[in-house]
Amino acid sequence: MRNWAVLVAGGRGTRMGLAENKTFVPLLGVPMLALSLRALLDSGVLDGVTVVVGSGERLRAESLVAGMGPCLPVSVIEGGADRQASVWNGLVNLPLDVELVAVHDAARPLVTRTVIQACLASAREFGSGVAAVPLKDTVKRVDANRTVRGTLSRDELRAVQTPQAFRASLLREAHERALHDGRRATDDAALVEAMGVAVRLVDGDYENIKLTTLEDIIVAEVMLTRGGTFPSGFPFRIGHGYDVHALVEDRSLILCGVRIPHERGLLGYSDADVAAHAICDALLGAAGLGDIGRHFPDSDPAYAGADSLMLLAEAVRKTADAGYVVGNADVTIVAQRPRLTDFMPEMRDNLARALGVAQEAVNVKATTTEGLGFEGDGQGISAHAVVLILQSRISPFTSKKGRDE
Ligand code: MG
Repeated sequence: MRNWAVLVAGGRGTRMGLAENKTFVPLLGVPMLALSLRALLDSGVLDGVTVVVGSGERLRAESLVAGMGPCLPVSVIEGGADRQASVWNGLVNLPLDVELVAVHDAARPLVTRTVIQACLASAREFGSGVAAVPLKDTVKRVDANRTVRGTLSRDELRAVQTPQAFRASLLREAHERALHDGRRATDDAALVEAMGVAVRLVDGDYENIKLTTLEDIIVAEVMLTRGGTFPSGFPFRIGHGYDVHALVEDRSLILCGVRIPHERGLLGYSDADVAAHAICDALLGAAGLGDIGRHFPDSDPAYAGADSLMLLAEAVRKTADAGYVVGNADVTIVAQRPRLTDFMPEMRDNLARALGVAQEAVNVKATTTEGLGFEGDGQGISAHAVVLILQSRISPFTSKKGRDE
């Protein structure tokens, strides 16, 4: 007797402004569908998965499955006109000896092993196990004029998720009856309920969100980067930057956008912010976009006296256009004098704003060279930087309407 999952992946990306199936959208570079499938395969309680995709998407899904390497049996079939029809297609294509079946939406890639196991365990004991969480919001009943007609008791309400696991024979019968009676429902539990069979809920997970809008993608990517569900083959890139400018009289000393009182300043075509330049080069390097000289040539009068933080912000936009968001940045300023410690909070703040990241994602350090070399004898200041960038289809700089996906 075997346990199987039907992974429903026919999701249109309409509410994400996408023309394509949203389950192919990558989260940190890994397609949503692959993450959901991986979660099921790694659950330890399933013997195989049937993936149901939209019409014309089978080959694409199969190549995605092939790219995941050796795993449990996974078959890909095309679904029907709506979710219910797609689940039905999955059910009729199950191996005959399947005892328990868990239906899962590929748009919930953050599902945990614990939740999957709980659903299957409940289905084994009670015939059904449906993931659900208590509501956080108070729910009102309203009429067509948006007038409140009542407040529902939160204690009696649950938000239902997937997986929804059932004895395979029970779910098949529920779908057959629904087909016969012309009943439509947005989840499988409702079809079983309609048979008068009690449906058992198990603890879902608030992180097991259904990715519906672009905001959900951002939230999911954040959860993936900090959670234990970090995808393998994670596509991040790293870049290094190095820059030097000479210290001369009659120039302002500007480092990370902060004007620092000193008897000399850095010489350069722009404001000569050596630290910002090093970060800019690290960022462009990580994105494979060349260097600062290529994007902001000093032959271009537009950059005479330029605020280097503006150049940095522009480099962030170019990086975003290339499909990456900034993860973190670390810069070391090499200067014998002046002491920079007091200016570091402001430097960090400036960089975080230019890079579009939290302050915690930016680190500024300074060192002397113990009097050695050109930095040591005050001829110049140098800076080294490293920047990590993360692949993302969701650019913070692209308007939702303008998105071309
Ligand atoms: Mg420079």
